[in-house]
Amino acid sequence: MLEESQARQRILDQADSGPVIWVPLELGLDQVLAQDIVGLVDSPPFDNSSMDGYAVKAADATSGSVLVVAEATQAAGLDRELELSSGEAIRIFTGAPVPAGADSVIMQEDVVREGGKITITHGVFEGENIRRRGGDVCAGQRLLDAGSVVTPTRIGLLASQGIPEIPVHSRPLVQIVTTGDELVEPGAPLLPGEIYNSNAPLLHSAVTKVGGVAATSHAADEMDKLREVLGHALSTAEVVVIAGGVSVGERDFVKEVLTDLGVSTDFWRVQVKPGKPFLFGRHEDGTMVFGLPGNPVSAFVTFLLFVKPVIQRLLGKPVQGVDSGQVFAVAKEAIHNRGDRPHYLRGILKGNEVQLSGTQQSHAIFGLSKANCLVRLEPEQEVAAGEQVMVLPI
Ligand code: AMP
Ligand code: MG
Repeated sequence: MLEESQARQRILDQADSGPVIWVPLELGLDQVLAQDIVGLVDSPPFDNSSMDGYAVKAADATSGSVLVVAEATQAAGLDRELELSSGEAIRIFTGAPVPAGADSVIMQEDVVREGGKITITHGVFEGENIRRRGGDVCAGQRLLDAGSVVTPTRIGLLASQGIPEIPVHSRPLVQIVTTGDELVEPGAPLLPGEIYNSNAPLLHSAVTKVGGVAATSHAADEMDKLREVLGHALSTAEVVVIAGGVSVGERDFVKEVLTDLGVSTDFWRVQVKPGKPFLFGRHEDGTMVFGLPGNPVSAFVTFLLFVKPVIQRLLGKPVQGVDSGQVFAVAKEAIHNRGDRPHYLRGILKGNEVQLSGTQQSHAIFGLSKANCLVRLEPEQEVAAGEQVMVLPI
């Protein structure tokens, strides 16, 4: 049976950042740039006023001097190509192009206006209140490196450069297939023996949160039905995530049907708890196939450990988690792993202290819902209250 890190590495070795597509700027939010971005225009593109006031020559605008206000004014928008003469001031507003001949803008609060004249109360220095062309960005300057995550402020920067579309690694389509005769969709009544399908919405939102595009479908525990649903999933998605049916029960048909459909199992079972019956395979056409245990806690934990890193890789993002950037916290209580596999427990991390979250059985989704991290214990590891333990933020 593969160890957890070996299993993850083996999967990641088969994953590369996804194809590059150009998307409208706003749709690139949280995605990873596939190319460097270079400035297209100077920003600001022209010298302009940072204040409402008067464009002047600084030498004319000393304290106490009187200037004649020109008739024409310059607002933000069309450049009226005004020219300033000595002894003159031109009314100007924030963002407006600075008239030729002016070397500064005096704030309207620093003058007293009477009819067609202003008296300067506080002089200006040359260049005051003028935002210079290219003062922020110059055309040709490198703005963002390939691999940068697109944030709202970077979207603002690119928009200021007149860039309408950006190249990013496309979001992988992840088809989630839940299995089980006992499952009913939320909203329908429960008959005796049935439970609600919680994995479909849980995994759908987990995929979406990581940045993938999720779709769900469901198959009863029948060969034909599974073949139909999995066949469709394999033909449409880049990643197929199956929940349930991969264990050793009489009606766990997933492995057999996958083989029929041309999926070769790369490995089945990993030395980790929860997650022993985890399966990874590849379809002939390259589609990656994950089989997760059916219990919701186990499904979610194995998703975090093995599927999330792959989605991050496909998106061109750094893979975060157990093998890099480990986080430790102080245990608030004694925790013991009596088993021979690493064990992930659900925890609540507050500051640098962690405590366990409710009952730890793998169907217990209430405790999982309160958890904000997983606590990782090595085989046989005993942690006393006050000692450090590894945590994986959810
Ligand atoms: P299985 O791996 O199919 O044997 O399922 C293991 C356990 O998980 C069983 O108790 C199932 O009823 C439960 N289970 C499987 N799939 C789901 C699901 N989609 N939502 C909630 N529970 C599930
Ligand atoms: Mg089942």
